Amino acid sequence: DGQIVVSGLTKQYKNVRAVDDLSFTVEPGRVTGFLGPNGAGKTTTLRMVLNLVTPTAGAATIGGRRYADLHDPLRTVGAILEASAAHKGRTGRNHLRVICAAAGLPDSRADEVLELVGLAPAGSRKFKGYSLGMRQRLGIAAAMLGDPRVLILDEPANGLDPEGIRWMRDLLRRLAGEGRTVLVSSHLLSEMQLLADDVVIIAAGRLVRQGTVDDVMGSM
Ligand code: ADP
Ligand code: ADP
Repeated sequence: DGQIVVSGLTKQYKNVRAVDDLSFTVEPGRVTGFLGPNGAGKTTTLRMVLNLVTPTAGAATIGGRRYADLHDPLRTVGAILEASAAHKGRTGRNHLRVICAAAGLPDSRADEVLELVGLAPAGSRKFKGYSLGMRQRLGIAAAMLGDPRVLILDEPANGLDPEGIRWMRDLLRRLAGEGRTVLVSSHLLSEMQLLADDVVIIAAGRLVRQGTVDDVMGSM
């Protein structure tokens, strides 16, 4: 399955303990918010889950395997770690097709994921004309190309207006409702309250609380 288990994860940079003995679990079928102020260690944690940063100690697994041991990572995990940066002169559809080609996926997936995120009408427009919200949608589209069971999104609602956040809530709920694991970071409590079912709160690299949004937010 697509459970994420973070266990004793630690990252020490020269002078900074970015992540400090962090443990939590993320369940399939739910939208889990990963909340903490800027500098709390969210991006470093997500990068360690995705095998982009080597932990100093501890480990993270997805469905019981470390990322490096996944049989088919692109079809298991989709991720965006920053607002999508496509070649500016490329269309949204071509941006996705380039990724399809590199990943051995059929071109038709580009149109399917454009449809999924409501970008089909803009698929043949150039990326440089996309609004921030459209760029976030394109990032999610790219993450969904491999039809992954697990979706990891770092600050996907950054810069979205309330309507855009409602749109994202509906999409993430739908994807979780299909049984996917959805982990989404934010530094804004208000975003988490709108987007997430469960929440993992960290500060200074350490776990502060984990629980349902209702339980955790109700007691804050
Ligand atoms: P967040 O995503 O919650 O804003 P980060 O994971 O980006 O937090 O950063 C956590 C801490 O680790 C910050 O103090 C940041 O400056 C530091 N940090 C992140 N990456 C590096 C790096 N490559 N080298 C040194 N320090 C880093
Ligand atoms: P990105 O997040 O797209 O990699 P950044 O501009 O945040 O770009 O960081 C560029 C590089 O510097 C990354 O490798 C990041 O891990 C590293 N980095 C981030 N914060 C720090 C920090 N406080 N000290 C040293 N390196 C850092």
